[in-house]
Amino acid sequence: VFAHLVQAPEDPILGVTVAYNKDPSPVKLNLGVGAYRTEEGKPLVLNVVRKAEQQLINDRTRIKEYLPIVGLVEFNKLSAKLILGADSPAIRENRVTTVECLSGTGSLRVGGEFLAKHYHQKTIYITQPTWGNHPKIFTLAGLTVKTYRYYDPSTRGLNFQGLIEDLGAATPGSIVLLHACAHNPTGVDPTIQQWEQIRQLMRSKGLMPFFDSAYQGFASGSLDADAKPIRMFVADGGECLVAQSYAKNMGLYGERVGALSIVCKSSDVAGKVESQLKLVIRPMYSSPPIHGASIVAVILRDRNLFNEWTLELKAMADRIISMRKQLFEALRARGTPGDWSHIIKQIGMFTFTGLNPAQVSYMTKEYHIYMTSDGRISMAGLSSKTVPHLADAIHAVATK
Ligand code: PMP
Repeated sequence: VFAHLVQAPEDPILGVTVAYNKDPSPVKLNLGVGAYRTEEGKPLVLNVVRKAEQQLINDRTRIKEYLPIVGLVEFNKLSAKLILGADSPAIRENRVTTVECLSGTGSLRVGGEFLAKHYHQKTIYITQPTWGNHPKIFTLAGLTVKTYRYYDPSTRGLNFQGLIEDLGAATPGSIVLLHACAHNPTGVDPTIQQWEQIRQLMRSKGLMPFFDSAYQGFASGSLDADAKPIRMFVADGGECLVAQSYAKNMGLYGERVGALSIVCKSSDVAGKVESQLKLVIRPMYSSPPIHGASIVAVILRDRNLFNEWTLELKAMADRIISMRKQLFEALRARGTPGDWSHIIKQIGMFTFTGLNPAQVSYMTKEYHIYMTSDGRISMAGLSSKTVPHLADAIHAVATK
């Protein structure tokens, strides 16, 4: 009965790794996947995560019962504090509801379905370009997806004028997806002054902010600094949604741990929102997994482990920044034509190189370097040893 099906294409991002795995070349390099790698090119399990897991194993009182529909309640409280700030007025006034979800993706999806069901405006504006999964998540959640201008290829920076024009022209009340920091794929973030202008415009038009926070701590190395734009929106007393992921900042990728917070105007409304979120979640996956959220809770509740985490997080962010500098210097040393300063200016895990699909395909064929066809490279996949190989490849396509 399924014989009529056509073979579906690989996911554009995950498919890069599939192709990489098939390549027998010893010099092959995977810059496609957005996962941290050590200087040796290996995945990293943070020390604090190992310690937290050990604590969990040693605790013989721990059981494997189902979590409630909303997940691990302590994890939810700590996650809201981490993103909104320990002194957040919204938390103090008990008007935030937080549910544990399946990492960032699950949090976006649950938030999307909730909005599609209960919010009066069904249109969500996403940045052009954005993470490839965003349009699919929100379309399947039942929202209508539109884009707003974000990136300017000529400057390889923010198209702030275009952004303000497009949000200014959006239907009042529409939802706007905002990357909290370290925009994927461009690595281009608004400045704090620009965020303030965005906030004023959005509040004046009643646009609903939906923050995607997949990289808290990865942009600047500071958890608080990276959450600043969200906190500016919460400080004005208005509503917003926040999807948090612990995939990158705690290296918990496969544990699928994240949270959706909805900041409401009153504690009464927050309670009703939570009751409706439960109705979205129950038929979808009933309740979330227990292990990853328990790891996060152990780390966030313990001052020493928390401090140790911030140091490990900073070390990851710093290694990425150092890769940016090394790649930029390597291109300068080769005299590669063009302005490559965006490599050191862009923020977070990715550099949006400006390489076109033909150039990407040439680099894959001739240099066994794998990346998404939009020219996005994961700086975390680079090391001091592999920078020269990448620089040679970029130099070759830039002088071809
Ligand atoms: N949003 C953005 C912008 C991302 O880059 C990612 C991860 N690539 C996610 C959300 C979600 O990731 P996860 O579901 O693994 O937490």
